[in-house]
Amino acid sequence: MDSCLGVEQDLDKATTKFTALNDQTSTAIDELITKVENLKKELAKQSPDDPLPPEEVKLIVDMIASLKQAVFQMSTDHRELHATVSRVGKSIDRHFIADYAAVAPKAESFCSDTNRPLMEQAIAQHLYRQGLEDVGDAFIAEARIPPVERTCAFAQLQRCAAALAEGDPQPALEWVEERAEDLTHSPLPFTLHRMKALKLGREVGVGAAIGYARAVFPAHAARHERALRACVCALAWCTPAAPPPPPHYRRLLDPKALGAEAAEVFIRESCALLRLAPLSPLAGAVLVGARVLPALHDIRAKMAHPHVIAAWADDELPLEVDLGEEGGNYHSVFACPILRQQASDANPPMRLLCGHVISRDALNKLTMGVKLKCPYCPMEQSPSEARQIYFS
Ligand SMILES: [Zn+2]
Repeated sequence: MDSCLGVEQDLDKATTKFTALNDQTSTAIDELITKVENLKKELAKQSPDDPLPPEEVKLIVDMIASLKQAVFQMSTDHRELHATVSRVGKSIDRHFIADYAAVAPKAESFCSDTNRPLMEQAIAQHLYRQGLEDVGDAFIAEARIPPVERTCAFAQLQRCAAALAEGDPQPALEWVEERAEDLTHSPLPFTLHRMKALKLGREVGVGAAIGYARAVFPAHAARHERALRACVCALAWCTPAAPPPPPHYRRLLDPKALGAEAAEVFIRESCALLRLAPLSPLAGAVLVGARVLPALHDIRAKMAHPHVIAAWADDELPLEVDLGEEGGNYHSVFACPILRQQASDANPPMRLLCGHVISRDALNKLTMGVKLKCPYCPMEQSPSEARQIYFS
């Protein structure tokens, strides 16, 4: 962030100088044009056949000299501006790291014959998942890559989320209605109904909103009592003549903020229901990469130490990086918490029904007949319900 602010300062200086020079030059040019026009008018009064009197000749010569001087001044000022602009470039170089080759030495492998098609597929898939079907089609056609599955559930979700962000809850409500049974414990239906009630209040009238609230809110009253009360109270400020709402209702009455919040809840809940990762593989890789690279860069010197190189395998990270809430969890290795051994192909990590992960050897050791008690939660389950986890 400090780096961005540092560059912004230099950029602001350059912009201010540029604007000032622009204004100054425009005024100077306008003045010169007026002077030339006036002189032209003066000369037009003369008969074309008469020779110019010496004082007029002097006027023209002076005018040409002052024009030349003005043009010279402008080009000098312009040249000086270039120094300010190039300072921004230098400031970017100074504040940001341009060369990550030391910590990501395999970057060029993206372009190898095996990986390039995978990258292209990931890009196309990402475009489709964002709901940018036209762009995805154009990319596939222009890059001449094999078609990628187009009818992706994610595209539909993105369309619903985009409509929400625009303030229209209808497509998302229809999607939710089709899956009402699976979403009984989700906050999503209430979030959407609340958005629709407030939209009706704003656009049709408070009466319509209350009618809608009566029809749909009772089903959500027990779980969302506080939010529901706030929503109904907020309706009081929906009338055109209403005074500005108190601060705690402002968010509910701001269609943009409400839409953005609903879109976020929608993507999170719908992805959880469909068991989709909320981010496309490409978006996930970029997000995680952006978080990991600076940390790797900071310990670059230590990583290059022969002992460290020897201690860490090629595809492992020597440090743990917090990827934040939306970054998810990525592991390059798994160590069994029971046997305290690193997992291997012969002894892979196994995810138990409760979500805890132990190695297969540990699972076999803990199994009593057909029953297994998780050593952590401790849920009773069948060992056959455990699933192998693959790290790649
Ligand atoms: Zn467990």
